[in-house]
Amino acid sequence: MTTRNYYTCDETQGQANVVQCIPDGEDGYVIELDATLFHPQGGGQPSDGGTIDGVPVQRVFADGETVWHRTATPVAPGPVTLSVDGELRHLHARWHSAGHLIGYAGETFGWQPVKAHHWPGEGRITFSGNGTLTAEMLTAKISAWMEENLPRHIGFSEGKRHVRFGELPAYGCGGTHVSALREIGLITLTNVKMKKGQLVVSYTVDER
Ligand SMILES: [Zn+2]
Repeated sequence: MTTRNYYTCDETQGQANVVQCIPDGEDGYVIELDATLFHPQGGGQPSDGGTIDGVPVQRVFADGETVWHRTATPVAPGPVTLSVDGELRHLHARWHSAGHLIGYAGETFGWQPVKAHHWPGEGRITFSGNGTLTAEMLTAKISAWMEENLPRHIGFSEGKRHVRFGELPAYGCGGTHVSALREIGLITLTNVKMKKGQLVVSYTVDER
């Protein structure tokens, strides 16, 4: 089991121990750490990048309770220095947090977010529900929350992590988030359309 330190802190630099480093059968290696700062791909969010003792991490993925870090070269068991790419982390956190806001906004109009994809350049939230929901309606809600610069809160109940902004509803979530909403920057809803009975809202977050 890997302790997921990114659940509770935004640090991008730290120490950990390599528990094992094994060939992955595809010309690379996968590293298990006792604790990690690296967010693995999942929950609609790509994995973090960075290095373990200077060795570039190509991909991070979870398998049950274990987080694996894929590298091209091996890293010896024992203490190592973790360095997460802070810029990439913040980019992913901004896109992911924007997805939360669009979900919350839809919920206030009676629509339920059922799918979320927060990859930069591919952001979209899928809703099920009935009635009218337009980009203008969603944008008005989001702008108001952004204006308040609602802060992030992280909590745990029965071992599950949940994340909320201000007093908005908490989402069960394992992703990384901005610490307050204005860090996201401008969210633009680029398309709202019905597809197979569900409403798909596509979005972008401004480049920095
Ligand atoms: Zn989240």
